[in-house]
Amino acid sequence: MSFVILQPCCNDASCVDVCPVDCIHPTPEEAPFMRTEMLHIDPQTCIDCGACVDACPVDAIKSEDDLEEEEEVYKNLNSEYFDLHPLVSGQLDPVKPIWRKADFTGMRVAIVGSGPAAFYAALEIVATKGASVTMFERLLTPYGLVRFGVAPDHPGTKAVTEVFKTLARRTNFSLNLGIEIGKHITHDELLARHHAVIYAVGASSDRRLGIDGEDLPGSHTATEFVAWYNGHPDYANRSFDLSSERIVVIGNGNVALDVARILLTDPDELDRTDIADHALEALRDSKVREVIVLGRRGVAQAGYTNPEMIALRHLPDVDLIVDGDEVATDELTQSILDADDTEASVRSKVAFAQDVASQPPEGHRKRLVLRYLASPTEIVGTDRVESVTVTRNRLEQESDGAVMAVATDFTESIDTGLVLRAVGYHGVPVPDLPFDAARGVVPNVGGRVVDQSSRDTVSGVYVTGWIKRGPSGVIGTNKKCATDTVDLLLQDYLAGALPMPSEGPESTAELVSQRQPNVVDFAGWATIDKAEKAAGKARKRPRVKFVTPESILAELN
Ligand code: NAP
Repeated sequence: MSFVILQPCCNDASCVDVCPVDCIHPTPEEAPFMRTEMLHIDPQTCIDCGACVDACPVDAIKSEDDLEEEEEVYKNLNSEYFDLHPLVSGQLDPVKPIWRKADFTGMRVAIVGSGPAAFYAALEIVATKGASVTMFERLLTPYGLVRFGVAPDHPGTKAVTEVFKTLARRTNFSLNLGIEIGKHITHDELLARHHAVIYAVGASSDRRLGIDGEDLPGSHTATEFVAWYNGHPDYANRSFDLSSERIVVIGNGNVALDVARILLTDPDELDRTDIADHALEALRDSKVREVIVLGRRGVAQAGYTNPEMIALRHLPDVDLIVDGDEVATDELTQSILDADDTEASVRSKVAFAQDVASQPPEGHRKRLVLRYLASPTEIVGTDRVESVTVTRNRLEQESDGAVMAVATDFTESIDTGLVLRAVGYHGVPVPDLPFDAARGVVPNVGGRVVDQSSRDTVSGVYVTGWIKRGPSGVIGTNKKCATDTVDLLLQDYLAGALPMPSEGPESTAELVSQRQPNVVDFAGWATIDKAEKAAGKARKRPRVKFVTPESILAELN
């Protein structure tokens, strides 16, 4: 018997740390880690001890004997991974940096943002001897994309907050909700009070498509839609016209699949989640029967991960449709599948899509259509969206190996009343920091912020998460990203390379209370959290989210 890792895998590798026989891979030290869709357990090496089950923050690990029929597919994903990356016996554990044992007494670090990257960085720092962390978040609730990005029907993924919550017990950690750096407190004021500042502010804007009709009413970014259904206060007043039967989603990453799934899920099912009340109400009146997801490249290059695609096959009352011609293996795709260094997940993507294409639709009431090799070239309408013009693509490989979509002469028009553009997030400038506008990141080397023109390090200033590396990876990917940044920060402190704060340790709390009397701390958040859960209990939901600042602050009075 072996254990198997399933869809909610968050990749934060907590399981890797506790495995006594090193059978969970890729580990954060292995090259495929930053690219992997999920972690895998080698069934040949697993000794069935269950340590990983206890350590997993998102309950994603099950004994193979307990798998449901639709979960059996994960056993194959495991073995395919180890076929491609066989374990080498006798590999030594990486040596932990010696400075981990050092004394950091008096070191103060500010972290801006409270999403997974911020919390993973804080967990690293508070574990050192003597260091303290003060975290600042502009909103009145913590956890960033775990609260406002993860889909409401993925409660397992949200369980990672249980790990973050452990910081509430630490005397060397404080949380300040409702403080915006650049508005209530400046970057310089922060730096004057801390040895270092880590920005973990994510990527809050979107990539543009750059086609005609992109800004017509009825064309929205998927990220707005996600923030709306997850109860983000800045998006609560948005409205989405769900009166047309067909919706087109552009892009085929995991965000595209999330919005497609939420649009087609029975609202009675969503009523068991923490979806925002205003979204649930709107979805109850929805007329949507079909969602078409447009991927511009081939199935081997699809942006989504296999676990998310697999889940779509089991969506109640929904036919998953793939056109066999669009996923047929052409010469280029065959050469990619034959190449030794092609990831196992790529082969699985092709196989899953071809398998779906080979099955006749079951005749359900709703349809989710995954299209490939299809680029939108115009969003058409006079007063609002009426259709999308789509060009068929073929694939070409560049000299560097990149596979590109090249337009053919074949175009078609798809009627729709609503377009959701899910073509990726994009970072926005951080006040007083350098910014790489093309990549939407703060320029950095391994997390140390650098001046773009001189390439000099900006002393005491660091980044982690999407503002450091761009919008890629799943929640747990941020753990390694944060650890890497914190490693450099601690090295810099020990080397005496960080500026000495000019203000004393008490000055931060004084400044905060002067500038924002409504600041909420971890204890305040615990009260709000409890009240949301209590409101949910009455309706058999995990929680009912309080959305407006007034409704949140009312819980504290
Ligand atoms: P993403 O994975 O980067 O996907 C963006 C999609 O947009 C790709 O299919 C991309 O195609 C397409 N695209 C970009 N420009 C386009 C254009 N001009 N025309 C047509 N298509 C275009 O981004 P995402 O979906 O926003 O997700 C962001 C990150 O969050 C990802 O790492 C994702 O895995 C993660 N996430 C994970 C989950 C989960 O685990 N359940 C849920 C949500 C998000 P090309 O590949 O051809 O560029």
